[in-house]
Amino acid sequence: MTTQKIPLAAVIGHPIAHSKSPLIHSYWLKQHGLSGHYIPMDVKPEHLESVLRGLHTMGFVGANVTIPHKERALEIADQVTDRATLIGAANTLIFHEDGKILADNTDGYGFIQNLRQNAPDWDAAAGPAVVLGAGGAARAIVASLLDAGAPQILISNRTRVRAEQLRDDFGARLKVVEWVQAGTLMEEAATLVNTTSLGMTGKPDLKVSLEGLQPGTLVTDLVYAPLRTPLLEVAAEKGCVTVDGLGMLLHQAAPGFERWFGPRPEVTDDLRQMVLA
Ligand code: NAP
Repeated sequence: MTTQKIPLAAVIGHPIAHSKSPLIHSYWLKQHGLSGHYIPMDVKPEHLESVLRGLHTMGFVGANVTIPHKERALEIADQVTDRATLIGAANTLIFHEDGKILADNTDGYGFIQNLRQNAPDWDAAAGPAVVLGAGGAARAIVASLLDAGAPQILISNRTRVRAEQLRDDFGARLKVVEWVQAGTLMEEAATLVNTTSLGMTGKPDLKVSLEGLQPGTLVTDLVYAPLRTPLLEVAAEKGCVTVDGLGMLLHQAAPGFERWFGPRPEVTDDLRQMVLA
């Protein structure tokens, strides 16, 4: 009889049925011939703390947390990485042997790795980055762009005060621009990132003027349903380098998998096709 423990991990959200994370991790577990499991868990906000505290005793080595738990998980954790503190949210939790919870955020890592893989000539330091949106995801994008060397970030959000909060938190390399004037930023953008939900299936279109976009600008969209958003279509017609948002989702999962199950997994075209199907 073997006494070897089978490692378990979960993605915790509310709701959770839509999550693609179980597909991604199950694919890697099978690919590496590992005996772990990764499951979706629908947990109400009022139960989050008791669930997180109990998982370790049931053999869980970690978890991803998603909407609406990303901020609360940070408060519950016993240790928090610098980048999760900076972003103000967690997406990856590691349960130590003694039951202590470490919270990390790998969204910014996933964002940058996606660009490095799909636009290898992209250089964050080449010029200003224009960031549309200032919601939860935008914080990770801003942190990672600054870290990657973007000289300036021009940020525009419908609700201006949220963009101002980011500038206050991340400093003088950020400049806030009125939402109605976002179109005027396109000409100077070396990098353009849509972090709003606009353009997503079932949501309104992104109506910001893209007239001024220059050929060669790196344009990426966090929205990945549809995969080729209207923003990416227009940008490609203008000669921009375009990268869709699915790769970010895949790459942000890799550090968690490595911490919980051992091998560093790869983001391959085969994985992309499996998740899309
Ligand atoms: P969030 O916190 O709810 O933020 C939503 C953002 O969209 C805010 O900036 C919001 O502006 C803006 N917005 C929504 N409706 C708008 C409208 N009608 N007009 C103008 N702006 C509008 O959401 P999030 O967590 O940051 O996620 C944003 C998007 O990124 C979602 O589509 C999500 O699926 C995607 N995402 C993708 C990945 C990936 O791995 N590819 C990872 C994370 C998120 P206000 O502040 O004015 O409301």
